[in-house]
Amino acid sequence: MTDTPAASADPASVPSGGAAAERRAELAANLADVRARIAAACAAAGRDPGEVTLVAVTKTFPASDVRLLAGLGLTEVAENRDQEAAPKAEATRDLPLTWHFVGQLQTNKARSVARYADVVQSVDRSRLVTALAGAAARQERTLRCLIQVSLDEREGRGGAEPRDVPRLAEEIAAADGLELGGVMAVAPLGADPGPAFTRLAGIAADLRAAHPAATTVSAGMSGDLEQAIECGATHVRVGTALLGGRRAIVR
Ligand SMILES: *Cc1c(COP(=O)(O)O)cnc(C)c1O
Repeated sequence: MTDTPAASADPASVPSGGAAAERRAELAANLADVRARIAAACAAAGRDPGEVTLVAVTKTFPASDVRLLAGLGLTEVAENRDQEAAPKAEATRDLPLTWHFVGQLQTNKARSVARYADVVQSVDRSRLVTALAGAAARQERTLRCLIQVSLDEREGRGGAEPRDVPRLAEEIAAADGLELGGVMAVAPLGADPGPAFTRLAGIAADLRAAHPAATTVSAGMSGDLEQAIECGATHVRVGTALLGGRRAIVR
């Protein structure tokens, strides 16, 4: 096998030969499984599968996997750390991808994230709205923002309190460079996700009443996408079921 230094130095190059074909087949099989799960969940909920967008969470996986997924027809990818996302987005900028940022975000990273992200799903405080708006305006870009809602006060995983959602929504809607897209949540760990997703659906409905274009409900991951779809999710964020188990983060 010829693995030239030039080829291996390009972080987005797909490995040549058998390894790439094997990884492609693995990703294709996983993608078919996930699409079948989404279709079955939509059928059970009486929903059209066209209403549910699959977002691949590629964190800890190389840009070459993003490239393979794009080749399999996936267009939405998500990352949760700017340090990892920025070079991966850069390495795949020739591809027609929509980048979602889904991690807790420091205001000092807003400028970097605004360069490559199309959607920031983890907007949870006023200072971040201000920072993202300033960064987007300077770069003459429009960022679609989802308000991340905390569904379990005991956890420090980010997210706004439900009572703060209307105020944050007004701030995003009024900001140059930002567009209010809807809500996002992560189900509480170790509990039945159904009640949390039902609560999110209510918050999303209230938001839509005031902001009719804010239609996105991003909920559901590898383990609970069926429950999320049952509760009206429009976007599911799937990592493990598509890409496999994540190794310890080494970067
Ligand atoms: C990692 C991550 C996911 C994907 O989780 P899986 O269980 O691997 O599907 C979804 N949402 C967020 C915010 C994440 O950080």
